[in-house]
Amino acid sequence: MVIRHLTLVRQVLAQSRIAVAVGGLGLVLAVGSAASFDAAAASRPGPGSYLVKTKSQLRALRKELFASLDKDQQAIVRKIDYAVRPNWRVAAYASHQGGHRDVVFYGGVLAIMEFLTDAALLERHYASAGCVQAYMKAIVAVDKKNRERILTGHPPKRIPSVFEFAETESGPCKSMATDEFYGNPTVVEERRALLKGGVAYLLSHEVAHHVLGHTDRWQAADFVDFLEKRRAAESAADDWAFSRMAEIGLNPIQAFAVMMYAAATNRYSAEEERRSTHPSGAKRFRVMLKRARAMSAKGTPFRQALVRRGELDEWNRRLKEIEKSFKKLMVAKL
Ligand SMILES: [Zn+2]
Repeated sequence: MVIRHLTLVRQVLAQSRIAVAVGGLGLVLAVGSAASFDAAAASRPGPGSYLVKTKSQLRALRKELFASLDKDQQAIVRKIDYAVRPNWRVAAYASHQGGHRDVVFYGGVLAIMEFLTDAALLERHYASAGCVQAYMKAIVAVDKKNRERILTGHPPKRIPSVFEFAETESGPCKSMATDEFYGNPTVVEERRALLKGGVAYLLSHEVAHHVLGHTDRWQAADFVDFLEKRRAAESAADDWAFSRMAEIGLNPIQAFAVMMYAAATNRYSAEEERRSTHPSGAKRFRVMLKRARAMSAKGTPFRQALVRRGELDEWNRRLKEIEKSFKKLMVAKL
């Protein structure tokens, strides 16, 4: 196990210099960065076992997602530079300044997507119910502290993977050898599909801000109007991302890890939502569920494909499982 991760960390470190120059989603996993690298960290299960390996697949995913856009949208998409900041901040943004179009991911957002996916698969195949919830509570707390650190000019700290969390807590997340987990073919296959969906969502959501003109200059009458427009833009970007995913046969539910995190960190009321730039996470999650159900409804190509592969029952079970953990999350104290 140790050796495997050491190799991974070395790969990541070897690529991290390129990451700064070239950018690209695949290099994300410089998360933790050279500066914070130490021998102890190398023996921990780190993020990136999926993304580092699939750098070229991610380039292919971009092609797949945006191939059928019209000419004007294609022209915009071609101008975008992608970069990943090796930093534990859980955020991503799109910007258009001085003629440059950028989509930037902080490592933290990719890490939590990967870690929460692992937590869900751990709960499904090995641990007891409540693992996702317990782990979510722990990482929301780290992220909250990290936000305070960023505000006071300090670098955010490492977010623990679900396996590191399980080692220190005697809760529902069973501690287990990561070799066994990542060596389970079912886990590997489910993980691949979920992460593909998660990355497709993150990527499409940020690209949407460019394509839909949100990164261009726009006017707001006042601050309330500004916030309203920002929230509308966020909802439109989510919608655009879900339709891109649907177009290449990915169900919106595959973005559940990122959306669940948004739901856990933005649980504000309708009143609070009016004072925010983003719609509440719970609302975004519900929209995702609605789109997922619509996509798997009777007569849709997605459902036909599930039936062909004999996976419909399994799919419905998973959808219910995610709905259930979302409901639990909404009443949980975090
Ligand atoms: Zn956005």
